[in-house]
Order: sequence, then structure tokens, then C-alpha cells
Amino acid sequence: MSKVLFWFRRDLRLASNQALQDAVNNGASEALFFVCEKQWQIHKTSEIQIDLLKRRIDYLGGKLAELGIKLHVVDAVDFKQLPLKFNEFITLHGFTHVYANREYEVNELNRDAQCSEFDAELRLYDGDVLCQPGSVVTKSGEMFKVFTPFKKAWLSEFSQRTFPLGKYLHTSFTPTKWQSPDILKSDGQSEKWPVDDNTLSQVVELFLESKLNDYSEYRDIPSIKGTSGLSPYLALGFICATDLIARIQQRIPDILLRTKTSAFVYINELLWREFYRHLMYVFPKLCKGKNFNEKYDAVIWLDDETAFTAWCEGNTGYPIVDAAMRQLNQTGWMHNRLRMIVASFLTKHLLIDWRKGEAYFMNKLIDGDLAANNGGWQWAASTGCDAQPYFRIFNPITQSEKFDPDGTFIRKYVHELEWVPAKYIHFPHDYIRAVGKQCYILPIVEHKEARARALDAFKV
Ligand code: FAD
Repeated sequence: MSKVLFWFRRDLRLASNQALQDAVNNGASEALFFVCEKQWQIHKTSEIQIDLLKRRIDYLGGKLAELGIKLHVVDAVDFKQLPLKFNEFITLHGFTHVYANREYEVNELNRDAQCSEFDAELRLYDGDVLCQPGSVVTKSGEMFKVFTPFKKAWLSEFSQRTFPLGKYLHTSFTPTKWQSPDILKSDGQSEKWPVDDNTLSQVVELFLESKLNDYSEYRDIPSIKGTSGLSPYLALGFICATDLIARIQQRIPDILLRTKTSAFVYINELLWREFYRHLMYVFPKLCKGKNFNEKYDAVIWLDDETAFTAWCEGNTGYPIVDAAMRQLNQTGWMHNRLRMIVASFLTKHLLIDWRKGEAYFMNKLIDGDLAANNGGWQWAASTGCDAQPYFRIFNPITQSEKFDPDGTFIRKYVHELEWVPAKYIHFPHDYIRAVGKQCYILPIVEHKEARARALDAFKV
């Protein structure tokens, strides 16, 4: 007799979850989620993301109970013990088949390899990506090392395809009751981010309806809500990229052929997400803190704790950097343009190892995601795959003038500069001195000197 289980990971959704639907179709009326506090510590997962995760699991527990599925929330404590706990669980309950979505990080792949050796058959799906990692390759069968040809190859395979709009989970079981376990108790940190499907669906629709057409125009302006803000939901799998493309195709059926449109610019970002996932799968060293481009192993990073702390706290004396870091510290999220600016500032102006910035982001971001975060950091540090060339160093003052011209964003987070006129706000030190108010920290490095120092370090 077969007994089927569904194992939730970072795929916390009931809609567009083929693995879950197939498990249910094959009789699964029970599901499993492992709480793994120690793993979260090792991955430096932020408290706000853990809170979001717990709230969502609690919500799903209730929804699954309405559909007659019992969700087991098991405390695995330590990730290393997980295969053992998994084996104990399936043996105790007599499960013969387990369905799950694949995760592509090295430790997660090893975990699945170990769990496949037990008595229950582990059936894995690729539910977190648009296509199987390792399947979009060059003519010689290798992973692309540049994004644009990767995208072109993906488009040549998929541009004619209509992505199916994922269906909500359907079951014919009798409803049961959900009792929220203590381990899922929320500390309220993430409460500004809704976790219920009705609200989430409204958030997605609102973005597609009212922002998608202007996405390409406003996506780089941090003071405007011009991006989707959906990254935490994609990172934890409350929604999936396939579904987003399907919804866009409902509005613009040939969107994957119209690559010059604003809507496609948005899809382009989803393809960057895809690219980094495929890279992480093909190059497992990315999970182990290694430079993608080994030639940069020779760069000597500075061990400057004072500068690092100033960067973390948003006290560098560069208003756009400080506003961005304060946004991160206060909200758990940061605009993409700002992520690029602060990452460049840390790795080039301060010459501090990108791994320190990567870890700090993971520890603060609500959308922390190993592949995207590592990709973003190595892009900014020029050590990555298809990264920013090392000699292109963002000037934080001109970036600020360009993307926050009237200083609206800076004023929101750097309150001490609220009164400074737009003309001076991007680098206000001379102006502040001239009017005799000492209200803002002096710059911790001088731009030109820091730039020259970075160029020297990278040339070596
Ligand atoms: P939108 O502009 O609406 O983009 C749509 C979706 O595409 C996003 O939700 C996200 O899932 C994906 N996406 C967008 N840009 C990128 C990108 N450059 N790389 C990969 N995926 C992308 N994104 C994360 O999800 N988690 C991270 O931990 C993360 N760390 C980053 C670190 C650095 C240094 C940099 C430069 C970028 C990082 N990004 C990360 C990518 C990007 O900044 C965020 O995905 C984006 O700001 C999220 O806001 P949004 O949902 O409004 O994005």
C-alpha cells in the first residue's frame, strides 16, 4: 500500500505547485515542513525573513486543513540532522512516496541525495525555476557565462510558449482542524508583508495593472514604488516566476517576443533570477563563498572594521549610501539600484570583501536569497559571472544626482539632511560647513582617492 507525503521547502504556495498537486492526486493528505533554526543561523537568514516564513507556514497550515491535509511542522534543529529526522518521520508514519520541489544550493542537494537513500521514494520537481537548471546551455553543452546569450537561448526555447496559469490546489478530502504550534509564533517583525493568498493576489494584480507599463521608466528611482516589491514572496516561494509570466501573457500574449516593452524589462529581471539559479547549480563553489572569477582571488581586501561598521550603520558620509543602508536596517528591504550602489561602495570605495556585505545583506534582507544575493554581490565586486568590469566604479554622488535628483529618498532616511536643498544634498559637506551646522558625519573616504586605490588593488 502506498502512502504519500508532500514536503514543503521554499515553495510555500498552494497555487502553481505541480509537485504538491501531483502528491495530492496520488493520495497525499499529509504534508511536512522542517523548522531548522540552526540552518537559518548558518545561512545567516534574517529574523524578519524567518518571521515571514513562520507566518506563512501558519497560514498554510490553516488552508491545508480546510482542504483536508494535515501539516506536520517538525523541529529538525540542525540541518545536518535533517536526513535522520526525515527517515525517522517517514518510518514512523509509513510513508512510501515523498514529493517535493528541488532546491539548488549545495547543502540542499546533498540533503536530497541522502534522503533518496531511505525507504520512501523521493520525487523531485523543478518548481522554483522557469526551466531545469543545466538545461539552457551553449552549443557545446556548457552553462552560459554571459547573461544576454543565456536569455536569448532561453527565449529561443520558450518565446512561443504560453505559460499555464497555475491552478489552486484541489483536493477531495474532508476538512480537518489546524492547531498552530508554538514554534511558529510570530514576533511581528514582518507584519507589513501580507501572507494570505487573497491579499497577495491583489498585490500582484495591482502591480501588473498599474505599474508594469511604467516599470522600465521608474524601476531605477528609489523614491518611487516603481518595482514589484514581490522579491520576498519569490524568495520563499509564496508565488513563482512561471505564474507571473503566465499572468503577463494573459494581458500581452506575445510578450516574450516583444522584448523592447516595459513588461519585458520586468521579465528580464526574472530571467536574471533564473540565470543566477542556473549558475549556482552548475558552479556549486558559489555556495561556498568562492569568487566566480578566480583571477580576483589575488585582490587583497582591507580588514577595516571601523569602515565596515560605518557602512552597516549608514554612517559613511555619502547620503545615498547612508539612506540605502538605513532603509535596509529599518525595513528589511532595499531598492535594487541602491543595492548596486552600496555594494559597489563597500567593495570598491572601502575595498572590503564582498563576502562581508553578502552576509550582512542575508542577515537583514526579508528577500534574502543565496543565488540572487551572491550574484548581485559578485556582480558589484566584479568577481562574478558577467559582472561589472572592475574599472567601472559607481560614483555615489553622480548616482545620487541621477536616481534621486531632488533628494526625496535621502530625506526619508537621513533625517539630519531634511533641510538641505536638493542642489547640495548629494554631497552636502561644503554647504553644511558654510551655513555653520555640524549635523552630518564627514565622508569616511574621499571618492577620487578611494577610486584610485580600488583600481590599483584590482589591477594587481
Ligand atoms: P523587481 O524590479 O520587481 O524585479 C522582479 C523580480 O526579479 C524580483 O522580485 C526578483 O525576484 C528578481 N530580480 C530582480 N532583479 C534581480 C537581480 N539583479 N538578480 C536576481 N534576481 C532579480 N534579490 C533577491 O531576491 N534576494 C537577494 O538576496 C538579493 N540580493 C541582492 C544583492 C545585491 C548586491 C544586488 C545588487 C541585488 C540583489 N538582489 C536580490 C536583486 C534585486 O535587487 C532584488 O531582487 C530586487 O531589488 C527586489 O525588488 P523587487 O521585487 O521590487 O524587484
